[in-house]
Amino acid sequence: MTTLLPRDRARLAGVHRDLVRVVERARLAVPFIVTEGLRSRERQARLVAIGASRTMNSRHITGHAVDLAYWLDDGDDGDGAVEQGEVRWDWPLYEQIGAAMKAAAKELGVPIVWGGDWASFRDGPHFELDRKAYP
Ligand SMILES: [Zn+2]
Repeated sequence: MTTLLPRDRARLAGVHRDLVRVVERARLAVPFIVTEGLRSRERQARLVAIGASRTMNSRHITGHAVDLAYWLDDGDDGDGAVEQGEVRWDWPLYEQIGAAMKAAAKELGVPIVWGGDWASFRDGPHFELDRKAYP
């Protein structure tokens, strides 16, 4: 199964269409789930309060960012859907997702930024549309 699950689709609601296209394309190459897309200002404030984020200027608030998690599924039990499995946080897996997202973004001509490339507060699961092209 190399496509997004219904729950991933639900989590992409409100996310910019171009970023969704990149996610869909990358998902053909690497297995991941969508953990978050659009985020309320209230939730962002809570994340900043607990130290999980450092900014109230998050691209999640405007639908310009997604968080992805590597998904090690349990295989297809015959119904064509793989909804059982586990999220893995091992760093090398995020290098794989980062490479797949960058390749998909290049193919589609959609400039993105990967949180894994940030010098401080490296954020492997995080991808956002480049502010220069998508203010
Ligand atoms: Zn994020």
